[in-house]
Amino acid sequence: MDSVLHASGRFGPRTLLITTAAVPLTGWAIHAVALPKRLAATRKDPLTGLLRRDAYTARARRLLGRHGDVTVVMVDADKFKEINDQLGHAAGDTVLAAFGARLTAWAGPHASVGRRGGDEFAVVLQLPAAGREQRLEQLVRMLHTPVVLDDGRTVDITASVGAATPAAVGARDLSLLQRAADAALYDGKHSGRPVLATAAHDSVPSVNGRRAGRPGTAVWGRAA
Ligand code: GH3
Ligand code: MG
Repeated sequence: MDSVLHASGRFGPRTLLITTAAVPLTGWAIHAVALPKRLAATRKDPLTGLLRRDAYTARARRLLGRHGDVTVVMVDADKFKEINDQLGHAAGDTVLAAFGARLTAWAGPHASVGRRGGDEFAVVLQLPAAGREQRLEQLVRMLHTPVVLDDGRTVDITASVGAATPAAVGARDLSLLQRAADAALYDGKHSGRPVLATAAHDSVPSVNGRRAGRPGTAVWGRAA
């Protein structure tokens, strides 16, 4: 009996009060730990690990505001639909994930690297004029390296690359630079060589915010 009384004393109203208060506190603590992770996840594209539009844009604009030697690079996989059609969507996903890893490795930790959607990517990074051409050629070589699938099959893949700098285009606006880099990309589409935009690439016609001749492909920043 004594032990029963003692036990009920140990788990009495005070304990109940502490427990009642502790449950929501624990809940909030878990929430506080999980929230930043969840927020970080919403900033990133789950397939490639690259930034989604808003996070990419904010980081890109910061880089453009702080540094003079910034380059905007647009990337689009070549004949990607054929990979999906011939090897399956999962193989296509593996290729996109590989592109994400390669772009991240190429651009370095300070760059803004985003997936625009589908097989299109954008990178904003510091790239001093002296080595810019070589670095862009290096990127093309990296992207042209075959991708090995989990089952051992190898996928030959190429991508097109266009780049724009404030000095060459005559503007520091992210939307304009993206548009110029996008136009340069399509000038060199399937050519295997990166194309650097000139001021003329900024005047590519667009229809309802989409690049003419390329229906269905919205260009980031144009509507921003
Ligand atoms: P081009 O050489 O002119 O770039 O042609 P393309 O075949 O690469 O055509 P396009 O860039 O227009 O097509 C991109 C395709 O990417 C269309 C769509 O079916 C596919 N796609 C979009 N998102 C995903 C995805 O998350 N995973 C996979 N596997 N495919 C995707
Ligand atoms: Mg493509």
